[in-house]
Amino acid sequence: MNPPINIPTNPAYRYHKAPDPNGPVYTPNIYQLELEINYNCGLGCNNCNRLTQIEAGNLSQMITVKQLDDMLKESVALGHKWLKMKFIGGEAMIHPNFWEMLDLVCAYQQSFSPELKIHIATHGQGEFARKCILRLNAERRPNVIIENTNKTTNIRPEFDTMTVAPKDLRPEFNQPGYQYRGCWIPHWVGLGFNYQGFYVCGPGAGIDRIFDLGLMIAKLKTILDDAKNGSPGLIGQYNPLCALCGHYAPLNGVKTTLISPTWHKAMVKYEKRQEARLALKHAYSPSQKHSLVVLGQGTALRKSEKTVIKLPPASDTGGLPPMRFKFNK
Ligand code: SF4
Repeated sequence: MNPPINIPTNPAYRYHKAPDPNGPVYTPNIYQLELEINYNCGLGCNNCNRLTQIEAGNLSQMITVKQLDDMLKESVALGHKWLKMKFIGGEAMIHPNFWEMLDLVCAYQQSFSPELKIHIATHGQGEFARKCILRLNAERRPNVIIENTNKTTNIRPEFDTMTVAPKDLRPEFNQPGYQYRGCWIPHWVGLGFNYQGFYVCGPGAGIDRIFDLGLMIAKLKTILDDAKNGSPGLIGQYNPLCALCGHYAPLNGVKTTLISPTWHKAMVKYEKRQEARLALKHAYSPSQKHSLVVLGQGTALRKSEKTVIKLPPASDTGGLPPMRFKFNK
């Protein structure tokens, strides 16, 4: 992991833009949705706003067919007609159930929301992506639009510095009572939906994957009720998410991934959580070689460092069965 940077004292970076503190609060578009079905890409662009280059997703961070199906069924039950859904990852087409998921969304479109436009984002690189694009073109599904960025390099100076938290940039972003206002993404692109639930925006869903803030909204009904009642609802996610999000006050023309101190701390914690998940998994595969020995409920020994680490609660194991360890003494 890159070491954190101290931006305010580093003259190499300058502010690209910062939101008008008296500007409007962006209204989230509740008819458009980014389906963050996985967080694996393989291209490794600098400052990827789904953080795939710094922390590629694991299996438990993929949307399941059931999750998507439940969300679509709930949309039908509530009479909610989405106008745009975009498959995005990572590289969405490498999700093992991508085609099944596409069928589900197409079925929802044909039976319930014919105006729905289905977008599929791809970097267009490699044999696999090219074959998938050929197949999509051959199938000629109605209202399915391929957004092929056709990347030829992973150096993207045009990308916002995603892992530079605004709150590390300027003291005013840290003042109590400072109201983050969102940005064009929830307004023009729409909401995010990942393995945890709904978020005000796709990048925000990715932030919560790393920071574990628990901001997801499980049900569409909650979002629609909040919108009807004038409750802060999704907009309530702006303060915790935008304070961390490099889209809010990005730096200009940066060609490497920059990591500010708040992100650095969060990623260290994230890696420990992942390591602990792995330990739980390995507890069920005793034949596998592993670096962690589970000591008992809640703790494990990291062999290399001979230190005891804390494990996450059983409910936080990404779908693994409850713990049944043979304790090592
Ligand atoms: S979290 Fe980022 S992408 Fe989402 S509204 Fe805030 S600044 Fe925009």
